[in-house]
Formats: sequence, structure tokens, C-alpha cells
Amino acid sequence: MQMIQENLQHIKEQLPKHVTLVAVSKFHPKERLMEAYNAGQRIFGESHEREMTDKYESLPDDIKWHFIGHLQTNKVKYIAPYVAMIEAVDSIRLLREIEKQAARHNRVIPVLLELHIAQEATKYGLTLDDCRALLSDGEWRTMSHVSIQGLMMMASFTNNQEQIRREFLTALSFFDEVKRDYFAGDDNFCIRSWGMSDDFLIAVECGSTMVRVGTSIFGQREY
Ligand SMILES: *Cc1c(COP(=O)(O)O)cnc(C)c1O
Repeated sequence: MQMIQENLQHIKEQLPKHVTLVAVSKFHPKERLMEAYNAGQRIFGESHEREMTDKYESLPDDIKWHFIGHLQTNKVKYIAPYVAMIEAVDSIRLLREIEKQAARHNRVIPVLLELHIAQEATKYGLTLDDCRALLSDGEWRTMSHVSIQGLMMMASFTNNQEQIRREFLTALSFFDEVKRDYFAGDDNFCIRSWGMSDDFLIAVECGSTMVRVGTSIFGQREY
């Protein structure tokens, strides 16, 4: 009990006020989430649709659920009624499906576009050119039930701090480009979601406004 509360407090002390903390609770049982909830945490990140829905159904209503994993289009319908943000949109197909399901529920779902900047071939996300193409195509402008509010990315899994920093700075300058070219008049487009347990301090130095932290709050996950 004490530990999650202390971990949260320790992380928050290191975060500037303008940075939002998403507590990544995937693979952790509900009791652990409730400890974080009781310590005041309200935003939780999950990466599996079933697990998130199960937790949503049994935990307090005022939790904001962020879907942070790779989302298959056929799973959107299960989370559309309640999800607070879908952080990892990596295709126009997925965006279309979110639009369709959000409309069915009379909702506007906030989303982030996920960039692929890291070296690993395994990471999902749009290359910068894919992202430019998605935005310049303009179909997204016709979607009244999705609100594109920023960008999300994961740095490479490496100990090389300079590489991590470079990747975050690439994301930051790309954010500025996209903001200028497509969202200049849109105050909602303001979220830069980068930084996890091992690199959130570097991320904050590189303009992050939202960090997704799991292990440093809840401890190691048991898969
Ligand atoms: C699991 C996960 C995190 C949290 O990672 P930690 O290293 O445990 O902090 C953040 N973002 C995404 C997309 C994840 O899948």
C-alpha cells in the first residue's frame, strides 16, 4: 500500500506541473490500481482491450482510461463507449473505425497519432512521412467524432541516453511542424506523449507533456 503511494509521490515531485502522469497499470491486478487511485491517481493506461474493459467495469467511474497499446480495428467497438483517450493511432483505417464507433455512442474520442521513430523494427507507429501523408490527405478533417490532440511515441529500448534524447527531440520538432501545418488554430492539439519509467526525465526535458509510467509505480509486471 505504502509503496505505490510513495512511488507516485516521488514521480510527481519530479514532474513539472504541466506534465500529465498516466499510470500504466497493464498486467497489474485491480487491488494495485485501487492503491494508486486512493493515492489520488485518476488516469490509467492499459494496452489490452479485454483487460482494460474488465478493469473499467469494476473500478470507480471517475477513472480516465487511456488505451496505449496497438489497437486492432475489430476491438475498437468494445472500448468506444468509455475510453478517455486512444494514444496509439497508427493508421487511417483505425482512425476511421474510431470515428464510426464514437459516432454510434454519440461521443468525440480524443486520440494521439503514434510515431515510429525508434530503431527497432518491432515498434508500431507511423513514420514521419506516413504521418505527413495521413494529415495532408485531409480525410481526418471530415471526422467529427475523433479529436486529434497530439502525438505519442516510444524511444528505442537502449541504454544510450543520447540516442533516446535524439529520438525525443525528433518527435518534438515534428510536433512543431505538424502544429504549424495542420493545427495552428487548434488549442486541443497540444499533447506530446513520450517518456516511460526509464526515460521520463529525459522526455520532459525534450518537451513531453504526458508521461506513461508503469514499472516505477507498480513494480515489475508478471506476464
Ligand atoms: C508498458 C508501456 C509503458 C510503461 O512502461 P514502463 O517501462 O513500465 O514505465 C509506456 N508506454 C507504453 C506504450 C507501454 O506499452
